[in-house]
Amino acid sequence: MMLVDAHCHLSMGRLARKLPEVIKRAKERNLIAIVTSTISPEDFSVTRKLVEKYKGYVFISLGLHPPGVNPTTLMKTIELIKKHQREIVAIGEVGLDYYWVKDEKRREFQRAAFREFIKLSDETNLPLVIHSREAGHDTFKILEECDAKRVMLHCFSDSTDMAAYAVKKGWLISIPTTVTRRKVHKDAASVTPLDSMLVETDSPFLSPFGGVNEPANVYYAVEAIARIKGVDIETVANKTSENALKFFEISI
Ligand SMILES: [Zn+2]
Repeated sequence: MMLVDAHCHLSMGRLARKLPEVIKRAKERNLIAIVTSTISPEDFSVTRKLVEKYKGYVFISLGLHPPGVNPTTLMKTIELIKKHQREIVAIGEVGLDYYWVKDEKRREFQRAAFREFIKLSDETNLPLVIHSREAGHDTFKILEECDAKRVMLHCFSDSTDMAAYAVKKGWLISIPTTVTRRKVHKDAASVTPLDSMLVETDSPFLSPFGGVNEPANVYYAVEAIARIKGVDIETVANKTSENALKFFEISI
């Protein structure tokens, strides 16, 4: 069995401080690759140093968390993506967050930034890792308008209709570890075919048990999905891993 954690944040808090142990447990759990996502220009610099010794195992997606989008961070992030495009495996997380950002002017700027990142994804030939919180309709609208092609919807939390629509568009739906207990993720897992699915921990967040989450726990997402779909754990593990390697163009 092989597993891939398609989205986490190894630079954060207790994960960063105990990284050697976290990586060891991931390997013991049959994870063959981990994609860690950065959320700001500073986070990229920190992450880059932190995971340097895990080259070929930990891969970086370079992004800007939507609540932190402003003209300065946007400019810096775009520069970093251009400069490090051969070193990173994706652009993200980028997208829209209407949960934390209520101000209409700032939301408008998020949308403009999002369009920039989609354009850059085309230019650099890098896939997109999308963050969308309470902004599903605008997120989908912009992805369509800008004709985004390689799309991963991280921690998908929208309706089953939208999941079905995303699948039709060829976008990938990433199911987080909280699929063990949250209905919205269980529903998404049940309507998404394995061919269109990735799994993630979003660690240190979204623990299946409470407390600090970590990449090794991606196993529990796979186990829950297997139960929901009535298939073997191994089938879910191997298919979602193949999807991740293909999407991020990772060869191991
Ligand atoms: Zn995240």
